[in-house]
Amino acid sequence: MTYLSNRVLTMEESVTLAAGARAKELKAQGRDILSLTLGEPDFVTPKNIQDAAIKAIQSGKASFYTVASGLPELKDAINSYMEKFYGYSVDRNQIVAATGGKYVLYAFFMAVLNPDDEVIIPTPYWVSYADQVKMAQGQPVFVQAREENDFKVTAQQLETVRTEKTKVLLLNTPSNPTGMIYTAAELQALGDWAVANDILILADDIYGRLVYNGAAFTPISTLSEAIRKQTIVINGVAKSYAMTGWRVGFAVGNPEIIAAMSKIIGQTTSNLTTVSQYAAIEAFTGDQSAVETMRQAFEERLNTIYPLLNAIPGFEVIKPQGAFYLFPNVKKAMEMKGYTDVTEFTTAILNETGIALVTGAGFGAPENVRLSYATDMDTLKEAVDRLQAFMLD
Ligand code: GLU
Repeated sequence: MTYLSNRVLTMEESVTLAAGARAKELKAQGRDILSLTLGEPDFVTPKNIQDAAIKAIQSGKASFYTVASGLPELKDAINSYMEKFYGYSVDRNQIVAATGGKYVLYAFFMAVLNPDDEVIIPTPYWVSYADQVKMAQGQPVFVQAREENDFKVTAQQLETVRTEKTKVLLLNTPSNPTGMIYTAAELQALGDWAVANDILILADDIYGRLVYNGAAFTPISTLSEAIRKQTIVINGVAKSYAMTGWRVGFAVGNPEIIAAMSKIIGQTTSNLTTVSQYAAIEAFTGDQSAVETMRQAFEERLNTIYPLLNAIPGFEVIKPQGAFYLFPNVKKAMEMKGYTDVTEFTTAILNETGIALVTGAGFGAPENVRLSYATDMDTLKEAVDRLQAFMLD
């Protein structure tokens, strides 16, 4: 007999958070752990943003609730961000802010899904999508983005899983965990397919500004008027402004869906923490130079670590173009070390080398592990050295 709901009993724990927590716990016990688990920049929030938050606290403005969907000034700041990075404007009633991109996604699923409505999720996928869909009583439908196709799906593949119940196509580009970016032409084909079949597009653009080595990110919502109408954009400040702890996410799109999401937010968290809203206004409208400095640091780490990782026996890695993850295929490495289960392999790496990675199993990828390179270069180099020694042992 348990008091717990079937909902929670059938839900998976977030493997990224679990891996990050495990690494912290082992470190606290005095173990020599190098954590490449969480996708969390190692930089602190830029000074101008910190200052804006302090000012909001000291002036008293941060003491109070705001409307559930966010301050009008924040919505205007998000609109100016959209104008700058997406090239189009939106009205306030097309914008909602909430407690992190993760909660914005959840509010979206709660707002649009009826029991058994289907959400197409390309695999490998970020760990929380499928469980959030299930929490909202929807049905995740996975489409395998093949490694040979740079982990990208095609409209032909989507068509094979389309049913009467298909309601949403989820796209995350640049991708967590693969770091791949769909080209404008590829997105156009997916977007046209969604429009033709009246399927909503959920565009998780959170890594849009973290692109490297000349790669370009084209938001799907910019490709045509019809696609824009069909798309809910999800974005936030966490990854590109080093603001994971502030929990600021937002959605932009269809006013009816945005109002429904706001209703859910109003009945659950109420507004996004007021001080974080003031910090986000500065992030979106203030000096952007820190974003570029951090992007360059990630690019340098990628370019340094990628060849070293790819040279490790049994590790095969496609070079990512964005986000801050490497997603090696370790099938051969597992064979060499006598493992068949990637989670067990990840645990063995942790126990024997002190390198904390995230198992690909949580991303629907049983032959891969994920490394976050949002950490300093010395840690990354040391981690790769230890992995190399582990494989040669
Ligand atoms: N999104 C980050 C990651 O994938 C943070 C942890 C999480 O929310 O999953 O590592």
